[in-house]
Order: sequence, then C-alpha cells, then structure tokens
Amino acid sequence: MADSKLQVLFDQVVDRNPGEAEFHQAVREVFDSLAPVVAKHPEYTDAAVLQRLCEPERQIIFRVPWTDDRGDVRINRGFRVEFNSALGPYKGGLRFHPSVYLGIVKFLGFEQIFKNALTGLPIGGGKGGSDFDPKGRSDAEVMRFCQSFMTELYRHIGEYTDVPAGDIGVGGREIGYLFGQYKRITNRYESGMLTGKGLTWGGSQVRREATGYGTVFFVEQMLSAAGDSFDGKRVVVSGSGNVAIYAMEKVAQLGGTVVAFSDSSGYVVEEAGIDLATLKEVKEVQRGRAADYVERRPDAAMGSGGSIWDVPADIALPCATQNELDEAEARVLVRNGCRIVAEGANMPTTPAAVRVLADAGVLFAPGKAANAGGVATSALEMQQNASRDSWTFEYTEERLEEIMRGIHDRCLATADEYGLPGDYAAGANIAGFTHVADAMLALGVI
Ligand code: GLU
Repeated sequence: MADSKLQVLFDQVVDRNPGEAEFHQAVREVFDSLAPVVAKHPEYTDAAVLQRLCEPERQIIFRVPWTDDRGDVRINRGFRVEFNSALGPYKGGLRFHPSVYLGIVKFLGFEQIFKNALTGLPIGGGKGGSDFDPKGRSDAEVMRFCQSFMTELYRHIGEYTDVPAGDIGVGGREIGYLFGQYKRITNRYESGMLTGKGLTWGGSQVRREATGYGTVFFVEQMLSAAGDSFDGKRVVVSGSGNVAIYAMEKVAQLGGTVVAFSDSSGYVVEEAGIDLATLKEVKEVQRGRAADYVERRPDAAMGSGGSIWDVPADIALPCATQNELDEAEARVLVRNGCRIVAEGANMPTTPAAVRVLADAGVLFAPGKAANAGGVATSALEMQQNASRDSWTFEYTEERLEEIMRGIHDRCLATADEYGLPGDYAAGANIAGFTHVADAMLALGVI
C-alpha cells in the first residue's frame, strides 16, 4: 500500500481478523483508494473513522438445527454481521452456500456499506447467511431450515433495525419462508423487515430484475459517456442466477447479444444469442444445470476447456461469485479486445485481474457501483411498504435507472475531483466512503 498510515491500519485489520482472506481483500481494495482522501481530511483520522468502519457494530453467530427428510438432525451455522448503521438500518442480503463463514459475511457486509452509501438512499450496511447448501434439498427441507434460521434471527432484525434480503442461494422461495416465520413469531405483518418479497405480499415490481438490470443500466452509462451504445455488442455474462439472467435480459433489450453464460458445472456458448425463455425455465423452474439448457438448444454447446472468459466479447459481466475472474483470464479478455468489465457479482474480479484491466485501458466498474441496483430497489420496496403503496413496473424501473445514472455520475465526478479521470473503482470507493464518513463524524464517537 502506498500510504504508510493506511498500511498500519490495514495490518491492524488483518491482525484483529485472522484467517478472513476475503474480508482483508475487500478492506485493502477500499484502502487502496483512500490515501488522497485522508490527506485532504485529517478530521477522519482524528475521529478514527477508518478503524470504526472496519469493526462491525455487531456480529451475531448462531446454531441452526433442522431435520432433513430422512428424519436426521442437521446443524448449520447462521451469521448476521450488522456492520454500519450511520446512514440507516443495516441492509444487505443473506447468502446460503457451503462456502459461507465469518470472513465471507464480513467482506460482503463491508462492501455493502459503501454500495448502499453510493445509492444515496438511507440504508446502512449488513450481511448474513449460512453454510447451508440448498442445492439438492427438497422444498420441505428448505422451509424447515429457513424457519429454524429465522427463529434465532428474528430477535435481531426489524424494519428500523436491520432489513435482510436475498443473495446467492436465497431467492423468492427462501424469502417467503423467512417472512412467514417472522410474521408467525412476532404476530406482526411488518412488511419492511425483509425485501425481495413476492408481489402479492409486499414485494416491489422490478426487485427480481433489479441487480442485473441495474448493472446493464450502469454499463449503458459507461458506453454513452464514451459516445457508444449496446447496439451490436457481444456480451459474455458469467453465472446463471438471478443477477446473470436479468443482466442478459436487459442487454438483449438494449440491442446487445449475450453469447455465453455459465454455472458451477461449466459454460455454454450460443453465437446467435442465449435464449432467455429456455434459460429461465431451466434455472428458475427446474433448478437444472447448464447441460439441461444445451440439451434443448441445438445451436448451443458446452464450452470445452478454459473458462467462459475465453469467449471473445466486447463487454464482460462477471455475475457469478467472488474471485471468479483472475489475472490470466483478464489477460485473455484484453487480448480478445474486451473494452468493458462490469461486476454484477460482489468482488468477482481478483485484485491482480483489476490491475491487468487498468493497465490495458479496459473500463472497469466495481460491484459496489455496478451491482447497487438490487439493494437500491430493496430500498424502494421499503419505501412502498412504509407508505402502504405499490408502484407500477414502469415507474419503479425509471427510478432504478435514475439511481444507476446517479451512481455512475457520482463515480466519474469523484474520480475527476481526485485527478483520476475514468477510474470508476477509485470514484466508487471515495464517494461511498466520504458519504458514510461524514455521517459518522456528525453522529459522534459511537
Ligand atoms: N444481496 C444483494 C447485494 O449484494 C442485495 C441486498 C439487498 O437487497 O438488501 O447487494
């Protein structure tokens, strides 16, 4: 790290949080942008804003016992890290995936602070989840798990306290079971305590589409700032979950062609464009695999060898998971003429890959800016719940587009202000940080 004071603070974070590599990576990535900010604002250092930001306000770890369909008792670990509430109630999703441990939840919670600040909406940062693997589990097992998870979590959350939502492994089905159990335990129809709800019971139009759509709206702004558009662009989207599917849908609506997607079993190439109706049927209804898509589409094929990043594209949208695009793969993207990489997932590009892209002049949009549309629309869902109202699809989508434009412009303006034109990553880190840091100063040492 170039700045020695920041290096000392970073070393303290590593010492205080041993073995949490993803959390260290997320902190380092933010600190790397902050040297000019702390130099200009000694008041942040005087009030120990950075040290306080890196220490979650509250960390909850709990046992989640449940019974599988054979009658065997299973134990998982549940987490909720309430990271920062300077701007509003803690807000962020729940991830159910076997890789989840405290370090993953803290990296996601830390990112969420700045992402949520960038939206300009009144939401703090938090994240949670469990090492439970919903893959291959029956609906009844998922329901029993969710009910057990909420039986502990309910005492820590609420519409003014902490508002969870989905993330990897947590979609509409899980949110339904979680909301049902909260309602039952508390005897309150408290719609605003959870977002991503179904449309007939307090959910918002566009929330399902929001993260993917938002990422593509962000890229549309990047293209337009460069005097270009999606028209005729080849796009590769990794993943095939909620973020990826709706990113693909918006790319197609704006005139681009998505030629490849992936899942944990491999990647699929279809030169004429991925067929979304088939993909939605395979992934959202059948909960199937990439091969099930290929089976139904005669012109599609599983990619052979390498990774999805070998498929030539003008625009790459990593929408699967953290650290899925490494240095070697970034080199391949550059060699194939890729012009834009925008993160639909959280921290999918490794730090070394980000450097390769920057050195080659590839425009790079970090997740905390480019994927903020999901949480922003969650905040719109909270607004609708608070006013007992529901908005149309068109109006909600307009609001989302406006928010993404705002984030894009804020990133660029901040990068300009600090003499780093076009550096979206620095712009996002600095704009997100100063927004939350100023609120923390105003609220005193708490
Ligand atoms: N999990 C999403 C994210 O990474 C959405 C969180 C939310 O809607 O609260 O931002």
